[in-house]
Amino acid sequence: MARICVFCGSSMGTRNEYKTAAHELANYIAAHDLGLVYGGADVGLMKVLADTALEKGVEVIGIMPKRLIEKEVAHNNLTNMIVVETMAERKDKMVDMSDGFVALPGGFGTFDELSEILTFNQLRISDKPLGILNIAGYFDELLKFFNHAVGEGFVRKEHKENVIVSHKIPDLMRQMNRYQPLTIGKWIEDIKNESNHL
Ligand code: AMP
Repeated sequence: MARICVFCGSSMGTRNEYKTAAHELANYIAAHDLGLVYGGADVGLMKVLADTALEKGVEVIGIMPKRLIEKEVAHNNLTNMIVVETMAERKDKMVDMSDGFVALPGGFGTFDELSEILTFNQLRISDKPLGILNIAGYFDELLKFFNHAVGEGFVRKEHKENVIVSHKIPDLMRQMNRYQPLTIGKWIEDIKNESNHL
C-alpha cells in the first residue's frame, strides 16, 4: 500500500481553514486507499489529521522519539507507533516508510521536515515527491524567500522549480504523481567550478 507522510503543526493555527485542510487531506487519503505516516502526536493539526484518518479506517503509523513520548503528547490509538531515539532517526524512518510527503501549515518542526526532504531530493538521497499544501497563502512568504535564495545564488533555479505547491489537494497529488527527480551531476560540477574561481 502506498503511504503518504504528512508534516503539519503541533498547534492548530489561527484560521479554521487549516483545520479543514487537515480534515480534507485525511479524507483524501482514506478515499484513495492510502496509508498515513506522521509524527505521532495527539495535539494540533496532527491530531485532527490522525483522528479523521482513523475514523475512516486508514492505517495510521506514528513515528516519535522516546523523549516526546515521555512528555505524553503521543496518540494512543494509532494502528502502529514506532518509537525511535532521536529526531534524525525519526526523519529517516519517515522517509523509509513513505512514498511521498505533504506539508500542511505548521511551525519550525514542519519547516525542518520539509527542508530535509527538499535537501534529500536535491542530493538524490531519496527520490520521493514533497508537496506543499499552501492553505490560505500560509507558505507565500516562504516561497518568496525561496525565490530570494535563487536570486542570491544559494538555491538553483531548477531545484526551486521542482518544488510542488498547490492550495488544492487533488492538484497537489496530481503534481506529486508526475514528479521527476533532477540529475545531480551538472550542478555539482557547477558548484565545484564556482568554488575554483576564488
Ligand atoms: P511544528 O510545525 O513546530 O508544530 O512541529 C510539527 C512537526 O514536527 C510535525 O510534523 C511533527 O513530525 C514534528 N513535531 C513537533 N512537535 C511534535 C510533538 N509534540 N509530537 C510529535 N511530533 C512533533
